[in-house]
Amino acid sequence: MKILQDYNLNELTEKMVACGEKPFRAAQIFRNLHSGKAISEMTDISLSLREKLCESYVDEPCKIIKKLVSRDGTQKYLFRLYDGNVIEGVLMEYKYGNTLCVSTQVGCRMGCTFCASTLEGLVRNLSAGEILSEVLTVNREAGGDIKNRKVTNVVLMGSGEPLDNYEEVIKFIKLLAAPEGINVSPRNVSLSTCGLVPKIYELAEEGLAVNLTISLHSPFDESRARIMPVAKSFKISEILAACENYFNKTGRRYYFEYSLISGENDTDECVNALVKLLKGKPCHVNLIRLNEVKERNLMSTDDEKAKAFMNKLNDKGISATLRRRMGVDIDGACGQLRRRFIAEENS
Ligand code: SAH
Repeated sequence: MKILQDYNLNELTEKMVACGEKPFRAAQIFRNLHSGKAISEMTDISLSLREKLCESYVDEPCKIIKKLVSRDGTQKYLFRLYDGNVIEGVLMEYKYGNTLCVSTQVGCRMGCTFCASTLEGLVRNLSAGEILSEVLTVNREAGGDIKNRKVTNVVLMGSGEPLDNYEEVIKFIKLLAAPEGINVSPRNVSLSTCGLVPKIYELAEEGLAVNLTISLHSPFDESRARIMPVAKSFKISEILAACENYFNKTGRRYYFEYSLISGENDTDECVNALVKLLKGKPCHVNLIRLNEVKERNLMSTDDEKAKAFMNKLNDKGISATLRRRMGVDIDGACGQLRRRFIAEENS
């Protein structure tokens, strides 16, 4: 089966004209898709066309099968894909709008030791249209459409490594920006990567001003490699050079994610090394306390120590904030909810 949401308006128009439809029909279907409608719900097109489309295309590529609402308002969604795979997304409310965290792959092959998404490796890549469908479905579920969006920002921080599914992720960012569709600008998109250096250079050439976020988690190559196997392939110095190039090409400052793990990356030695690495660079550090994953034997830094870590960085001239942990009561961390759901379903 194919995914209709994979097409941009030009591609969709070509497809429709090829099967004898008028071009305006494509624009109508495109608007319907970007409003989050399933093909079978598009009552403004003929039943025969709907039936014809459903023969070749998935009716609802990203079906919500579970929705959990946290005490802090964070909403966690589980989606079923057409082949039965399950992925997750998280909607967070901020003052400036609502941010949806989307998955880019089913599972992940990067092997970070603190992360639940990678426990069973990579299952498959998501297509651009499947990633887009996460946004379209949640936007609709939250009461939005293409004119009045309830999802205003997107972060590629769910399951998967976006730069390990490069072509589809780039296509997704372009589809998301379609003026005739949901129209979320790349400036409101954050792409988070564990640091696939050649792809960061490639991204800088795309002409998309997405916010680049690097999962750093340690200022030392050795300790980073202990928690992130990818660090054996790319040194921190190489990542920083790629970030510098990204800034020079796009004019966008870049971000570092830093999940505080007790005894591993929360010492004064780490603060000092971070200052040495990042001082004077056009960047910002997002600190977060580790979300403890039951299969992993790592502990979070406590709240007080995490705040002190942030203050020390700020005092030494590094822009850093400590993120609120959102949705902790609903398995907020990457891949946690999906794992629990699959385990329950199989038991
Ligand atoms: N693969 C990409 C994006 C997905 S992970 C990346 O590595 O950036 C999104 C962010 O959540 C990353 O910074 C990741 O390191 C972090 N993360 C994963 N599991 C976590 C956990 N249990 N606690 C805190 N942060 C976690």
